[in-house]
Amino acid sequence: MFSKTQPADLAVFGGAPLFDTIRSISNLVQPDVEQFLSYSRTFFDARQYTDYGPVEQQLEKRLAEFHHVEHCVSFAGGFWGLVLAMKCLALPGKTEVVMPSLTYRRLADIVAWAGLVPHFCEVDPLKLAITAETAAPCINENTALILGVHPIVNCCDVEGLEALSAQTGIPLLFDAVESVYETYRGRKVGSAGKAECFSMQSSKLFNAFEGGYVTTHDAALAARLRVMRDFGLREDGTLDPIGIDAKQNEMHAAMALAAIDDVEDQVLRNRDRYRAYQRLVPTVPDMRLLTFDETERCGYKNIVVELLDGWPVKRAHVLSILHAEHMLSRPYYSPALHQKRVDYPTVAGDLSATEVLAERFLMLPCGHFVDESDIEAIIALLGFIHAHAAEINQRFSS
Ligand SMILES: *Cc1c(COP(=O)(O)O)cnc(C)c1O
Repeated sequence: MFSKTQPADLAVFGGAPLFDTIRSISNLVQPDVEQFLSYSRTFFDARQYTDYGPVEQQLEKRLAEFHHVEHCVSFAGGFWGLVLAMKCLALPGKTEVVMPSLTYRRLADIVAWAGLVPHFCEVDPLKLAITAETAAPCINENTALILGVHPIVNCCDVEGLEALSAQTGIPLLFDAVESVYETYRGRKVGSAGKAECFSMQSSKLFNAFEGGYVTTHDAALAARLRVMRDFGLREDGTLDPIGIDAKQNEMHAAMALAAIDDVEDQVLRNRDRYRAYQRLVPTVPDMRLLTFDETERCGYKNIVVELLDGWPVKRAHVLSILHAEHMLSRPYYSPALHQKRVDYPTVAGDLSATEVLAERFLMLPCGHFVDESDIEAIIALLGFIHAHAAEINQRFSS
């Protein structure tokens, strides 16, 4: 329960923290352990622990059904699924990947690992996502690929990007990690563009410890990805010029299956937390909740709020306050990727809209260990910060 009455009660200024244990922004959900063990028994009894064993085959089938797509190829991580899909799809002889700068903090590194050059585009200020309009100005004679990335709340402009890809002849790949459960205009995410990439790292909606997969309708692409993830060894004994060891193992696949069994329940619990935020965020002045488009299927996984123009305390200070209260709140995709120092080439034009957006959003606690009374306390704290802004700012500046 929230009982602070003056700024000195804030933990950052020496008061007792609001929460005894950490409130995370990850879902931290675990599937049923018996379910995990029963899937695990399959590979254990078969004595096959990796190399496309029975559980992994079952997982790929299950994921293809889940996404209404023909092929699914699993990987040791989302990272390698993305690298290899880019390697397959990039136009030969071309180098640049058009992608948003306001996105997942490792995504440009992944493009560089694929030997390609990130060319950063703006995002739509309302959707916080790449659109055909923001991508088009970045397309030039060097463009190898368009990387459509779904933002944390709702989907990016799938149909617009597909039209741009058709018009320009530049292949379109999606990073759909954040929209794994979603539909776009009623169609399951997973079958758009040339392929879509997903992660099952433990902070994502499906927790497989680690893991990732690529979905596609293209049988030749799926077959090549299977060869590439296994050292590039083709069935006829010849070698694909690109091969690494990026295989999913059976134990991770067993965890993934158990996670899929649990996902509908998880989404209902996520929705309850989202409903609580939906009810309570409007009581905080100068703050806006990013709302899910409920005309589509939503996973309700993360909670993102915008600090509006009138919000009186610097976001960095808000984060210090929240961290001291034991909330692992994080800024939304900030700094933007073009603002970071990296040791590989990138291309960036004027990204002033992204730079403004990178300062405005905040991710709030959610997931398995956050309940409705926590959310009430979190919202009370945010209202308290707003109400006592003058004194809080003074304390930070002295
Ligand atoms: C987590 C994440 C990835 C990478 O997935 P890993 O399985 O952790 O390698 C890629 N893109 C986005 C948007 C992500 O959130």
